[in-house]
Amino acid sequence: MTERLYYNNSFLLNFAAGIVEAQPASDGQVNVVLDRTAFYPTSGGQVSDTGWLELEAAESAAKVRVIEVSEREDGAIQHLVEGADLESLGSERVRGFIDVERRRDHMQQHTGQHVLSAAFISLFEMPTVSFHMGAESCTIDLDTKALTAEQVHRAEMLANDVIAEDRPVEIKYATLEEARAMGVRKIPPAEREKLRLIDIKDFDLNACGGTHVRSTGQIGAILLRKISKEKQGFRVEFVCGMRAVATARKDFETLTEAAGVFSTHIYEIPTQVRKLIEEEKAGAKREHKLLEEIASLTSDALLASLGDAKTVVRFYADRDLAFIKLLAQRLTRQGTVVALLGCGGTQPGVVFAQAPGLANDLGALMKEALGELGGRGGGNKDMAQGGAQDASKIEAVLETVRKKIV
Ligand SMILES: [Zn+2]
Repeated sequence: MTERLYYNNSFLLNFAAGIVEAQPASDGQVNVVLDRTAFYPTSGGQVSDTGWLELEAAESAAKVRVIEVSEREDGAIQHLVEGADLESLGSERVRGFIDVERRRDHMQQHTGQHVLSAAFISLFEMPTVSFHMGAESCTIDLDTKALTAEQVHRAEMLANDVIAEDRPVEIKYATLEEARAMGVRKIPPAEREKLRLIDIKDFDLNACGGTHVRSTGQIGAILLRKISKEKQGFRVEFVCGMRAVATARKDFETLTEAAGVFSTHIYEIPTQVRKLIEEEKAGAKREHKLLEEIASLTSDALLASLGDAKTVVRFYADRDLAFIKLLAQRLTRQGTVVALLGCGGTQPGVVFAQAPGLANDLGALMKEALGELGGRGGGNKDMAQGGAQDASKIEAVLETVRKKIV
């Protein structure tokens, strides 16, 4: 079992160790097991540290990149490294270097999670059932049937109060009985003789094997983000420390860009967006009304010019499907005709319609036409529509269909 140096000191960022084992992994990578390590392995919802191993022997004094660290079932911690050949690793001594910024970020997010989960417990008795640390944000899942915006706000306030109070975060060890007597809420299945407890002074006491800051002030800040209903409760997204700053900065820049588009203050954006949506709806209504008027006039003109013929065939290069549908309805309502209409527009398509009582099966004719046009659609005996992949074929297809009209 690898000695875990991060257990007693999360601020140990470089260390000496001996290689116990080196096994080839895929793509020329190598899995290295050390006798001791300060690298945190992926576990408990938290992704691993990354960093470097420096081979100490003078001849092969080279750095290899640690891209992932994981925990094996036998308790060994393995470091997946790139750029090392197995022979050079041999039975070397190495120095390990942890990527500082990533470690600090993980400590901030992870200790922040302890504080946030404790805040939801102390305020509302809502236990955290799982934690996930992503590359951009973290989430906890709360076991609760309801979660209001006000509760979220209060938990965020309390968590930030605890951060401002800069309470000590201490590592303690206890047996199972001692832990129970101390009131530890979630006691994990015992793997080792003693449990490792993280004690946030007078606020939270939890069994945990992760990396944590020394005092809550080092978390910096907690910003709660999206709240979503999940199968078994609510998911709360949050960011801590420098992530909170980066997120707030990104939010502000996004809002500023949107405010620039509207020439308004960022706090006025929702009002402006609502106004725009209303205008858009009114505009669409106006457009539909105009389209109906044009369809009506076009229908009148077409029927007047039809003479004895009873089939209207037309292709409108710049119109869309909504227009030719309206026109087909008008034509077949006002005259005893068959309308075979096509449009170019943004989505080329065809509409076939006939006045009630006429004998054609337009649904069947549409199916044949779509075979030529390569689009999808359908309909019934009196009315059918479909799309066309290639608008340039539509006029020829309409002429073919015209010959089949009885
Ligand atoms: Zn922890």
